[in-house]
Formats: sequence, structure tokens, C-alpha cells
Amino acid sequence: MSKKGKDDLDGKGLSRRNLLKAGTAAGVSLALGGPASAERGNSDRDEHHGGESHRGKSKDRELTLVNGRIHTMDDHDTVVSSATIRNGLFVAVGRGSNSGSKGEVIDLRGHTVVPGLIESHTHFVSLANRPGYHVAQWERANNLAEVLALLAARRERGDVPPGQFITAMGAGTPRMFAELRLPTLAELDAAVPDRPVFLYQGGGGPARTNTLGKQFFETATAPLAGPVTVGADGTIAGGNPNMANRALYHLRIRQTFEDKKRSALDAQLYSASVGITAVLDQTLVAAATGTLNPASLDPQPTDPLFTLNHYRMYDAWLQLHREERTLIRLQINFLHNQGFIAALGSSIDSQLPELRERLKNQFPFFGDGMVRTGAIGEWAAPFALPSSPDNYAVWYEAQRLVAKARWRNENAQAGSPTSTVNIEQVVATYEAMDAEFGIKDLRWGLQHSAFATPDQLARLKALNCAVSMSGFTWLNGTPRADGLPAGPLYPQILASGIPAGMHEDGVHIAPHNPWFALHYATTGLNVLGQQINPGQQISRQQALHAYTRGNAWYLNREDDLGSIEKGKFGDLVVLDRDYFSVSDADMRKTSPILSVVDGKIVYDAGVLHRDRRHDDDDD
Ligand SMILES: [Zn+2]
Repeated sequence: MSKKGKDDLDGKGLSRRNLLKAGTAAGVSLALGGPASAERGNSDRDEHHGGESHRGKSKDRELTLVNGRIHTMDDHDTVVSSATIRNGLFVAVGRGSNSGSKGEVIDLRGHTVVPGLIESHTHFVSLANRPGYHVAQWERANNLAEVLALLAARRERGDVPPGQFITAMGAGTPRMFAELRLPTLAELDAAVPDRPVFLYQGGGGPARTNTLGKQFFETATAPLAGPVTVGADGTIAGGNPNMANRALYHLRIRQTFEDKKRSALDAQLYSASVGITAVLDQTLVAAATGTLNPASLDPQPTDPLFTLNHYRMYDAWLQLHREERTLIRLQINFLHNQGFIAALGSSIDSQLPELRERLKNQFPFFGDGMVRTGAIGEWAAPFALPSSPDNYAVWYEAQRLVAKARWRNENAQAGSPTSTVNIEQVVATYEAMDAEFGIKDLRWGLQHSAFATPDQLARLKALNCAVSMSGFTWLNGTPRADGLPAGPLYPQILASGIPAGMHEDGVHIAPHNPWFALHYATTGLNVLGQQINPGQQISRQQALHAYTRGNAWYLNREDDLGSIEKGKFGDLVVLDRDYFSVSDADMRKTSPILSVVDGKIVYDAGVLHRDRRHDDDDD
């Protein structure tokens, strides 16, 4: 720690790496994302290392890690000590030294390394669109003091202009914090006295603000909404009318495109900081009108956090991609939320206008290593039982349309401890689609899948389908009075042999943090420490396998992602502790110290004291 001078604010504000040190010094062990592009900086440094000027003729970009405990997650669960990534691909994995390496060599000093984790069900692009200077890290806080410290640290970074909001939205629910509540106006004022603050809970509110935020919301006007009612303690109520959503609207309509790019980068850096290097985004629960006019889906005062313009929400991310600044891999699923719309008439051929256009005008699994399209998911139309004939007919026709177009299709059904009728409908329909169109080569999927029976799993497997097991029950799950497990039935699913991934389903109903899900899958404990899934635990190796290899299969990317093997994409995560051997409570707090995507360091907590002679950040 001999770099004191640079730990202070300078003209450009704190560097990201030093900010992390500052956060740690303040007793906040949570990673704060910064707007700086770590990727750019490292590309430059690598070129300097090679003795080349910018855009020199040597395009080789190489990174070598030595002296680690590198869990490759290959077919034999091999553990090695070194790995080299060249131009984005693993080229050497084994027990070599750094001799002859052309790029940076990092001494891991015995740290555990795992493949970059993959999230197979998230609404991540929503996080990438958050208004304000967003603090996603609040979902890792254990108590209000940590929430307040994170908000204060965001202000301390020095780049939030006067009048601009510091925000924290989604996922954070009172159950996550020891005090079982959100901070009050007075507490927010104490933490951030000179910037407005806005906290928004879950996917639909309520919300909380400070004095400056209260002043803004109580006087805000816009074409579609007037002022927001704010309680004396800063509470902005959900309900009807939903004042939290109206407040959200006032912030959303003030976002510039540059704001959205900053938020997208912040979100990506946050993901890298928790070890997730690739996401399968499930779009959003879109407004289910019959319209195909994107402009009609711009922010509305009644829109909750999990509704956005699902045509335009990728724009900032795609622009960052053009600028080669994205930090994690994005695979885009398209969720279609149109059930039966009476105004479209009674003929089934006039229903599902959006899905029909999608299948005609979009390419599945199209793009490159960093951004590409995926499938139709997490549903093609809202699930409906035959007891709701119009909606059932639309749901069933949606399955047919996707099969006929030869796209991949998903449904999201968990079942319950006492009923698997919904899953049965999905499985039987997939069988019917296979009989009519043939779907075995399309790798259809079932999301959540918590209570799928051995028979249902075997039938899905016979169709070459996969499942993605939910890992979010820990947040709101409670012990059942009948003693039955709250699910998922992880051992039963794995025993079936079906390809099985795992997901957290962030960023509204649950945090975007795989370690919480891994902890739940291996302990069955909810956020309050209660056993809610008795007898349904799997090993840490099995759970991590689901989050790496299992999810790679689920994304149709098992040749590129999910393990540290020659020829695969150079994504890995260096952990601050040994995931495989620490106590359960410690494992839940696992926090990467270095994340690598495509062979580039995209997140660095500053722990490994890399050789930074050519780093602009350094002395
Ligand atoms: Zn979801």
C-alpha cells in the first residue's frame, strides 16, 4: 500500500481500483463499480508490454496466470496451476511457468480460480438501464449501515453532478438487511446530504428518498404525470396509484443516452465483480398491448421497474459494443408477453402479432462472442391452463409458431411441492410439438423447473431439452407448515441426467449474485438462516458445475464457455477465498478479486498487486 497519493481524489475523480481500496478502508467490503473502462486500459497496457505502439502490427494479446488453484471444470474436474489466454482464447492450461510469455503474468499466490460464471436467467439489461448513478452493490449489503456506506461511497467518488440522483433499485428488500427495513429519510440525509437519493424496492416499489429527492419529486412535472406524494420519512408508496412508479418515471424520462451508456457499463462492471461473465437476458415482462409501435412503449408513469421499452432497451449496450467497451457477454432472449387480445379478433391467426414479427424478422443465435441473440424466452406467451380457453389457445399457438420457425423455445414453470400440473402441460406440449414439427435439434428449455418429477425430467431429456434450476428461493422462501421442501428438488433434477443449469433470476425479484444461489443450493438456508429445502442439497462442485458447464449447455455455447480448456473463450474468475473448502457462511460471501473476459481483465479489486509499471493508474 505504498500508493497513498493516488488513493486521494484527483482531477478525474478516484480511479476504480483505488476506489475499491477506499471502500475497503471505510469498512465496506463490497465492490463498487466505476464508469472507467477497465478493458480499454488493459488493452493499452498489453500493447505497451509487447513493445508495440498503439495499433502496432502485433495483434497478439496474451495473459498468463500462474501459481493458482485453477478448477478447470473439465470432464475430469482437473485442477491446474497455470493458464494462458491469447487473443481471447485459452491456449495453455496446465502446470507451466511464465517462461516465454509475451504478455502480463499474474502470480495468483495460491488463490482459487473458477471459470467465469454464467447466468442462465436474468433480466440484466434492466439493470443496465437504471436511471441515476446506480449502486447495484446494495443488494450485497447485510444491514443498513452497509447500504448507507455504499451510497456515501458513490457520492465520494466525485463524479455525480449537483442535482443528479444516486439510486439503488430492485432486488433489495428489507429481508436482506438485519433491520428488516429500508433506511429512513434522516438516515439517507446523513449519508448523502448534498445529492438526491432514490431507493426502489423489488420490481414494483415502494421507494424511499431523502430531503433533496423529496423536494424534487414533490414538484416534478412532466407531460404524463405531476408531482409524487412523499411521506415525512421519505417513503414513496407502491399500491394504486403507485407513487414509486411515478417517481421512477420522472427519473427515466430525464435519462440521456450517455446516462444509459454509463449505467450499462456500471452494471457490467458490477456483474464482473460478482463473477458473472456471461448472461442470458430474458428481456422484460413487456407491456402486452397489440401494438408494434416501439415509441408507444416509452416510459409511462405506471410502469414498474420491470417494464421498459423492450425494443429500445439494448441501444446503449449495443453502442458500447460498437465501441468495443462491453465488459461481459450478453445473450439476448426475447420474451413475448401477449396473451389473448380481444381487440385483435377471435381468429387465432390475428393473435400474437409481436411474436409473429419477431420470428419473421430476427435471427436466433446470431451475433458474436460478446453480444448475440438467443431464443424465445422465458416465454413465448403467458402460460395459461385450458380452463382459460382463449389464453390457452394463444399460449399453445405460440409454442407451434416457435417450433414451426425452428427457434429455440422456453417456458418458465416451477410447479409446487403439491402440484406439477403446469410442468406436465409444458412437457406434454413439447412432446406434441416434437410429433408435429420435430424439436429434438432445437434444444428447448424449461426455466425454474423446481418440482419436475423424474418422469417429466426423463421425457424432457428424451426431447433433448434442458432445464435451468432456480436459485432465488432463499430470498422470500419460508419454511412450509407441511415440512415439504420449498424447492428446487436439486438432487432429483441432477439424478435425471438432463442438462441442468442454475440461475438467480435477478435483477428485480432477486440479487444478481451467484454466490447466494450457490449457498442456497448447497445448504437449503433462506436469508434468515432457516432451513426451507430439507434434504434437497447438492455439493458445491455440482452447484458450480450447474453455474458453469450446465449453463453453457443451456445457452448453446458449451463449445466456447463454461470451463477452462484449450480453445475455449478466456473467461475466468479469481476468488478471494477457496469456494470449495471454506465454511458455508464464508462461501456465501465469496467475492472475486479479478475477473477476466475474453482474455481481458475487466474487474480488479487490487488484491493481487499486479505489475502495473505501464498502468496509467499507477505511479
Ligand atoms: Zn425471469
